[in-house]
Amino acid sequence: GELSSEQQGLVICRYSKHFEVEALEGDDLGKVHQCTTRTNLGSIVAGDKVIWRAGSDLTGVIVSRLDRSSILERPDNFGKLKPVAANIDQMLIVIACEPAPQANLIDRYLVAAELMNVRAVIVLNKADLISTSNEAQFETLLDVYRRLDYPAVKIVSSRHQTPQLDALPELIDQHTSIVVGQSGVGKSSLINALLPSANLAIGDLSETTREGTHTTTKAKLLHLPAGGRLIDSPGIRDFSLWHIDPLQLQHGFVEIAELIGHCRFRDCKHESEPGCAVLAAVESGDIQAPRFASYLRIKEAVLDQQSRGLNLA
Ligand code: GDP
Ligand code: ZN
Repeated sequence: GELSSEQQGLVICRYSKHFEVEALEGDDLGKVHQCTTRTNLGSIVAGDKVIWRAGSDLTGVIVSRLDRSSILERPDNFGKLKPVAANIDQMLIVIACEPAPQANLIDRYLVAAELMNVRAVIVLNKADLISTSNEAQFETLLDVYRRLDYPAVKIVSSRHQTPQLDALPELIDQHTSIVVGQSGVGKSSLINALLPSANLAIGDLSETTREGTHTTTKAKLLHLPAGGRLIDSPGIRDFSLWHIDPLQLQHGFVEIAELIGHCRFRDCKHESEPGCAVLAAVESGDIQAPRFASYLRIKEAVLDQQSRGLNLA
């Protein structure tokens, strides 16, 4: 059929050779069209902005892809990096009172967020389970990140309670976010609390059993009724740190990154070199001890993976 003139659109989801594209302008503003691509445009993923032409009956053809502000990649079954979602500008790192946060997990996600150049928010879920016996422990944990200027909120996402989202809606508004964190912390519950129509399965099933193997699950862009967007898929929810270079790692820790160039030696590894600005900051407390411990542990893991020729997955 006849195609209308070129216009901007937002890729909501990809189904093998078809794409759902939302019109960002014109008479169809907000309407979703089932599109094909006319030529090979390379990979197009949820969150991509494209130039497209509308056809009849909510169809269309994608003509080109616009530049991305960020790209989230993960390895396929052969270890080759594949884009999963584009133009994310915020990572919601969900931890919970139960299961207790794995050591270094927040820091590993923060490294990923910093290297993708996206904002990060720490979300402590299941705040209803905070008691006098564990309150100090969680406050201490959140304070580590608040001192680094990462926003941290305490929320309740369960259906069985009244959801309490604290400042989360305002932090999400105006952003395109992803929700990450270990299994069981309430990521699906949180997404359902923000967007009841998402209707994600909650519970003990692991995300891989819920959806088949992670590489086959599609990322989808969701508009939130209170404003803002989420890009979600099980493969994003259990996203962890892959393919990171030990030299890049120091850029993933904001308080170490700002000292790069301040050490006496250009190639300082911040191990035991004289005149090391990082070690001096650890000594003075400007770099918090648990963060530096995390840095060393992650560096060790990265070097170990690298020497064995593996990706971190
Ligand atoms: P996911 O694996 O991170 O997606 O976690 P789910 O959303 O599937 O939730 C895991 C379990 O935690 C479920 O049994 C939920 O009912 C429960 N849960 C979720 N949010 C809360 C909460 O705010 N408080 C409490 N106490 N339980 C919650
Ligand atoms: Zn140094």
